[in-house]
Amino acid sequence: MTNMTNRSNEEEALILDTIDRFLERDVRPHAHELESEDCYPEDIVSKMCELGLFGATISQEYGGLGLSASTYAQIVERVSAVWMSVSGIFNSHLIMAAAVERFGTEEQKRMYLPRFAAGEIRGGVALTEPDCGTDLQAIRTRAQRDGNDYVINGTKSWISNSVEGGILAVLVKTDLTAEPRHRGMSLLLVERDPGFQVARRLKKLGYKGIDTGELIFEDCRVPADRLIGGAEGRGLQQILGGLELGRINVAARGVGIARACLEESIAYAQVRKTFGKAIGEHQAIQIKLADMATRVEAARLLTESAAEAYDTGERCDMEAGMAKLFASEAAISNSMDAMRIHGAYGYSKEFNIERYYRDAPLLAIGEGTNELQRIIIAKQLIERHRV
Ligand SMILES: Cc1cc2nc3c(=O)[nH]c(=O)nc-3n(C[C@H](O)[C@H](O)[C@H](O)COP(=O)(O)OP(=O)(O)OC[C@H]3O[C@@H](n4cnc5c(N)ncnc54)[C@H](O)[C@@H]3O)c2cc1C
Repeated sequence: MTNMTNRSNEEEALILDTIDRFLERDVRPHAHELESEDCYPEDIVSKMCELGLFGATISQEYGGLGLSASTYAQIVERVSAVWMSVSGIFNSHLIMAAAVERFGTEEQKRMYLPRFAAGEIRGGVALTEPDCGTDLQAIRTRAQRDGNDYVINGTKSWISNSVEGGILAVLVKTDLTAEPRHRGMSLLLVERDPGFQVARRLKKLGYKGIDTGELIFEDCRVPADRLIGGAEGRGLQQILGGLELGRINVAARGVGIARACLEESIAYAQVRKTFGKAIGEHQAIQIKLADMATRVEAARLLTESAAEAYDTGERCDMEAGMAKLFASEAAISNSMDAMRIHGAYGYSKEFNIERYYRDAPLLAIGEGTNELQRIIIAKQLIERHRV
């Protein structure tokens, strides 16, 4: 989505300021308890609807805030520095919205985008299956045309917002014999239609609060006008376009976690004393702080640069891949360093560090693993520098 808006710097600053106040008032005081109990944060979600966060990157024309990817990335960084799970609730929803806005028919846009933007109907994207995630062309969920409907059969796994949400963009095979295989893939919007059921809510190491489900489609009937774009065979391309924004979002989450680890470590290093001085005066700790800060800065610059490329409408899979790869690894490294700096308190359930340590590894897996990002980066390097 190329949301080149005319929002002024003052307007952006005001939006970011509102987000900061929301985080301090409505999220930070509750994050620890909700996370420990793995509770879906209903009240926080209601506030996010009021703030318009579910329409952050949807155009103003369709009722959204129409924010650029650059401003959006700054919001995601801020949210993730307080509680990463909250950013997941609106991010996969916005990837679904991006697919509808970029590729949907005018009727689909008018029908869905204002309701998505208001948070009246929320959801995400269902691509992964029990047998495949990276190799999406190997999916087995099938949709067969039957009169004015599609009939879906298959299983999807690890789907965010699928238990609490009301709609999903589901990647299906509409032609099993198509070559190349992606020409037989389509994206269908599935609501709580007959034949759709959430088989179970999955238990996770971290990323608590947000729901992640396994879904079964058994002769699930969906009206044919829910096929995004109205033509079969474009589903993979439609969803991969949305994943660029998803990867910028994951990168911004990485910056948020890496920064939170750094800030808490800088503060702790000044109050914790060993051998008669603050641990921040020991060079071994200083070296860790310096490495952590350098990672945050580099991760943020890569994320900003990818977001700027996205905003110009340029192809930016390499930039988004680099930002996602570097920032997610920065979050993982900083959470480990923060744990070492905090000693036993880093390992305690009473402090935030162990949460960052449990949340960070997801960033190396979601929206395409870091191995896949390296493959995308390398392919683009060769493509852009052909001899
Ligand atoms: C908490 C959570 C939330 C999620 N939310 C969603 C969601 O909302 N929607 C959704 O559709 N999915 C979601 N996922 C799934 C996620 O996108 C997949 O887990 C991810 O794409 C990887 O797929 P996989 O787990 O099947 O790993 P696999 O594809 O089986 O890969 C296993 C390993 O092999 C490596 N590998 C695979 N192929 C290659 C290759 N060609 N070269 C080198 N290495 C390779 C991978 O990098 C990985 O290390 C979520 C996952 C989690 C954990």
